[in-house]
Amino acid sequence: MEKADPKLELRRLVFDYPKGVRAVDGFDVSLRSGEIVCLCGPNGSGKSTVLKLASGLLEPTEGEVRIDGIPLASLSKRERARLLASVPQRLEALGQSTVLSFVLGGRYARSSFLERALGGVSHQELERVEEALAETDAAELKERRLVELSGGQCQRVLVARALFQRASVLLFDEPTAMLDPAHQVQVFRLIASARDGGRSALVATHDLNLAGHFADRILLLQEGRVRALGAPGEILRPEVLGPIYGPDLHFQRLGERVLVVPWPVDAPG
Ligand code: ADP
Ligand code: MG
Repeated sequence: MEKADPKLELRRLVFDYPKGVRAVDGFDVSLRSGEIVCLCGPNGSGKSTVLKLASGLLEPTEGEVRIDGIPLASLSKRERARLLASVPQRLEALGQSTVLSFVLGGRYARSSFLERALGGVSHQELERVEEALAETDAAELKERRLVELSGGQCQRVLVARALFQRASVLLFDEPTAMLDPAHQVQVFRLIASARDGGRSALVATHDLNLAGHFADRILLLQEGRVRALGAPGEILRPEVLGPIYGPDLHFQRLGERVLVVPWPVDAPG
C-alpha cells in the first residue's frame, strides 16, 4: 500500500522515442520518503528511460512526474536540482575537469546566485565535498581529471556528487555496474544510509541480491511495462523471475532469504 504523501510519483508514464519505439508503457509507481525501490529488468526493458523521465531529462509522451505533489514540469531547473539528484550510467562528456570541481558542481542546487557570482567556495563546502569523496572511497582521486579515471572510479565519483547535492530524491542508473564486489556493497550501503536519513531512491540495477537485501520494494520491468512490484521476498522467486529472465538462474536459500545467481541450467551437479 502506498501512503497518501508520496515523495516521487511516476504517474502512468508512456514514452515513445522518435521512429515509434515505445520504451515505457503505462509505468506507474510512487515512492515514499525513506524508501528504496530497485528497478530491475532485462536489457532494453526501459529502466534508463524511466529514470530519464523521472529526472526531467526526457518529457513523457503521456503521464506525469510529481515531486512532493508538484508536477516536475512546473519546477525550474534549479528547483529540480535541489529536489533531485541523478546518477547516470556514465558521463557523456568527461572533459578535463578535476574530480573535486566536478563534485563541487553538485552545489549549483544549493548556492545562491550571489555566491556563484562571487565564485567562492566556502570552507564548509570543501569539507562536505571531502566527506562525500571519503564516503565513496574516492578521496585519493580528488585532484585527478575525470578522463583519467577507470569506469568504476568514475561511477564512485558520480555517486559522491549526488550525495554532495543532498537532494531528497536520488535516481541511480546501474550505479554498481562497473564496480568490484566490495564497492558494489559499499554503494548500496550509501544509498541505504541516505534512505535512513529520509531520502528516497529509485535504483536501476541487475544486482538482484543486493536489491533483495537493500530495497524496500523491487519493481520488475519488461518491455516498458511493470510486470511485478513488491517486497523482495515476493519478487525473488523462480515463478516471478523465470518468465522474465529464462531458466539460467539458480535459487539458493540463505537462512531466511534466497540468493539468485546466473547459472547455466544445464550445468552438471
Ligand atoms: P534499459 O535501461 O532497461 O536497458 P532503455 O531505457 O535504455 O532500457 O531502452 C528501452 C528501449 O528504448 C530499448 O528498446 C531501446 O533500444 C530504446 N531506446 C533507448 N534509447 C533510445 C533512443 N535514444 N532512441 C531510440 N530508441 C531508444
Ligand atoms: Mg539502461
